[in-house]
Amino acid sequence: MKVLELDHVSMEFPDGDGVVMALDDVSFTVDGGEFVAVTGPSGSGKSTLLAVAGLLLTPTSGRVLLDGREVTGKRRSTRTDLRRNRIGFVFQQPHLLGSLTAREQLEMVARLSGDRSAAAKKRALSLLDEVGLSAVADRRPAALSGGQRQRVGIARALMNQPQLLLVDEPTSALDHDRGLAIIDLLRGLTVERGVGTVVVTHDLATLGEHDEVVRIVDGRISEPVAR
Ligand code: ADP
Ligand code: MG
Repeated sequence: MKVLELDHVSMEFPDGDGVVMALDDVSFTVDGGEFVAVTGPSGSGKSTLLAVAGLLLTPTSGRVLLDGREVTGKRRSTRTDLRRNRIGFVFQQPHLLGSLTAREQLEMVARLSGDRSAAAKKRALSLLDEVGLSAVADRRPAALSGGQRQRVGIARALMNQPQLLLVDEPTSALDHDRGLAIIDLLRGLTVERGVGTVVVTHDLATLGEHDEVVRIVDGRISEPVAR
């Protein structure tokens, strides 16, 4: 089941008198349970690709499909609903709220969509357990390590039970071993939950031989480098 399809997607940004082609005719698909790593030099279009896939940006041309349904050109409110219900985002820094405990960070996602149910609270705890944070569920960010904070960010992204998980350089603020553990965690969650995951990472050494690798250079997909 294809959870994401980018079909000949291009994205131009105005740049002085001209334009910069942040994405240039990019096509690829992500299946449920598939882990896709996106790599490439700085400025090559990786974050733009996630923003387009996550319906934060509408491409200049080409089509974006979620679950086989075209979403490009849909109204803004429809795209916002899809983003809220179908897509989870994990950023470089998790941007946690200092005053909330780990479990409250997750519960807030449910509360923002009007869900204060016991089931949502249970889901928050079970997700924190899945990312290895049961013991620190009641700690605030200041009392968590960088790796733990990133795990809260990952659990939070899964609170809305998305089909697509978009992750931008989750290991860049972590040392090698902690970065490796985060990539392993994301891969495990991808398989167990059948979510389609796209991870931007420079750290090819953390990837497994079965991971799909998409390399982007100057907005275009190029041949993956040997690992
Ligand atoms: P990466 O994540 O691979 O470092 P980006 O997707 O952030 O690359 O950027 C790709 C190109 O698009 C760069 O040249 C960048 O300067 C440009 N770009 C990205 N976002 C914008 C924007 N909102 N406005 C103008 N140019 C942008
Ligand atoms: Mg980037």
